[in-house]
Amino acid sequence: MSTPVGPKPSNVVCPNCHQQVVTRTEAKATTKTHIIALILCLTCCWPCACCLYCTDCARNMDHYCPSCKAFVGHYER
Ligand SMILES: [Zn+2]
Repeated sequence: MSTPVGPKPSNVVCPNCHQQVVTRTEAKATTKTHIIALILCLTCCWPCACCLYCTDCARNMDHYCPSCKAFVGHYER
């Protein structure tokens, strides 16, 4: 069970401590990110690969409660 969340910190009721909180987000690089980065490296676009890891565009977001540290939800592009 996870709460629907977006790519940005979201205002949700924590499923664990039931407080109204703004979630703490952690960006996670996905397998897709690594594959795209690898392709960019192979096509000599490696600066683009670096950019890929510096932006949020190809990453998933995990949301955590700032109060009790519980996992709240997961956002996937
Ligand atoms: Zn909580």
